[in-house]
Formats: sequence, C-alpha cells, structure tokens
Amino acid sequence: MAAQGHRGRFAPTPSGPLHFGSLVAALGSHLEARASGGEWLVRIEDVDPPRVVSGAADDILRTLEAFGFEWDGPVMYQSRRGGAYEVALDRLLRLDRVYPCTCSRKFLAERARRGVDGPVYPGTCRARRPGALQAALRLRVPTGRIVFEDGLQGRIACEVSRECGDFVLRRADGVWSYQLAVVVDDAEQGITHVVRGADLLASTPRQILLQRLLGLPTPAYLHLPVVLDPHGDKLSKQTLAERVDARAPLPALQAALAFLGMPTDRSVTTVAEFWSMARAVWSPTRLPPVRGKRLPPACLD
Ligand code: GLU
Ligand code: ZN
Repeated sequence: MAAQGHRGRFAPTPSGPLHFGSLVAALGSHLEARASGGEWLVRIEDVDPPRVVSGAADDILRTLEAFGFEWDGPVMYQSRRGGAYEVALDRLLRLDRVYPCTCSRKFLAERARRGVDGPVYPGTCRARRPGALQAALRLRVPTGRIVFEDGLQGRIACEVSRECGDFVLRRADGVWSYQLAVVVDDAEQGITHVVRGADLLASTPRQILLQRLLGLPTPAYLHLPVVLDPHGDKLSKQTLAERVDARAPLPALQAALAFLGMPTDRSVTTVAEFWSMARAVWSPTRLPPVRGKRLPPACLD
C-alpha cells in the first residue's frame, strides 16, 4: 500500500483479550487518524508463538467491532510476514550490521548493566561473523544519538548504543524480534502516524535506527499515557488485566476517552452517538502528561 495522507494503526499482541489499556491505545490512534481525515489499519502482532493465545486475535477483532471501530483494508498478521523480515535481515547482513550471539541468559543477567529497557548487551560476540550456527542474531548498533520529536513527550534524544546496546533481530529459536517486525510492517502498511502507549517510548529510538539502516521512512510518533493498576504497574494481559466487556461497550469507551483527557458527554446512549461525540471533542492538545515508564533524563532533551 502506498502512503497517502495520514495513516494510523493499532497493533495488538494477541496474548489475551482486549483490555482497558489497549482500548485506550486503539481509541487514541483511531481518533487521531480520523480527525485528520486519515485511514486506520489493524495489525495482529502474533510474531512470538509462545505468547500467542489461541482465539485471542479473533476475540480482539470481534471486540473492536462491537465497540464500533472500523478499520481500513485487510488485517495484517505478523505470523505470515516471515519472508519480509528475511528480506530486511538480508539487507542488514549486507551492510555488515548483523552478528550471531550465543550468550546465555544467565551470562547476560550477570554481565549486562541496565539501560532504558532492560539489560544492555555487553558486546561479547560483536566480532563474530554470521554463520550457519543456531544463534540469536544481533544488530551491531552504530554510535550516535537518535533524535525525534514526540507528539506529546516533546524532543527525545537517545544514544541507542549506550541505552540498549546491540539488540536482537531474531532469537536463536528463529522468532523475529518485535523491533524488526514492527519497523518492516509499519513501512509495508504505509503508516505515517504511530500513536501508542508510552510503555513503548523506549523502543522508538531502536525502531528509527532500523528504519534508517533499511532505508524506510520514519513515521510521526505520539506516545499516550499508560493505564496503570493500583500498584503503579502497567495494565497488561500478563498481569491479568480485566478484559473489556464486548457486550457493554459504552462505559469502557467513555472511560477510555476520559482517561485520554477529553470531555465526555454522559447523555450519550449509543455507540454511534459516542463516536460522533468523541470525534467532535478529540484534540491532542488536551492529552494529559504521561504517567508510567519514561526514558531516563539522559534521553529527554
Ligand atoms: N504489539 C504491541 C503491544 O501490544 C504494540 C506495538 C506497537 O504499537 O508498536 O504492546
Ligand atoms: Zn553473545
């Protein structure tokens, strides 16, 4: 698909039913796309088989439908995109940016220091040549800061080589990394605007770096506040966040809109009325500041 105008997307991982946190991301990205007269696509991020729960993708899509979301074009499934990820990996191999790594989790847990998003690979295998052996493949990350302007968080500047280090492109079991898959697929779907939870803010510099190496365009990014549970942790399928009730869309839609800082009209009684009200009140300038995981001060310019 060619990029024309504004094109947003919602990219859930089908590790469980749609929960309130993902509803917020779906609603924010949808309203932002439609407010600009743009398109909105859905991609199922089922790239990591052990995390995929059978039936969850259909369940998420049915819930989105029940909530009145309408998406453009066919749903993309990452589980069918291996060929495209292979092409991207080949390109990085030709740039001499890929090497095999056989370091164990235990070794890394002992050796690696913590960066913005977990352990920073210490570079142990960096000099190795790609070969046939069964190993994780890592990107040899160049030094230099990645700088971008987030639609809500402002200017972000991150030295990926220091904050993340050489990150994994494909695991030793053959599973493609989220970072590689999301970059290849955002480009394939012609996404111009990525609106998603701020829990992914720390991933964006790695994704922009991959876009540059692969010669792909960089979309605009806006990272929304993340819904936290009473302990201050992100709501996620892993922490068994409660699913939203597909039979009662209105209360959840109203709560998601209110969470995003928009005024809600309690006199709304149907999903159709909700959507016309939500489109009318949506304005990114009303979004509340981010709560939850942020980049360290070093990355906030
Ligand atoms: N699949 C990711 C998640 O469900 C979102 C990826 C993205 O929006 O870039 O957390
Ligand atoms: Zn290694």
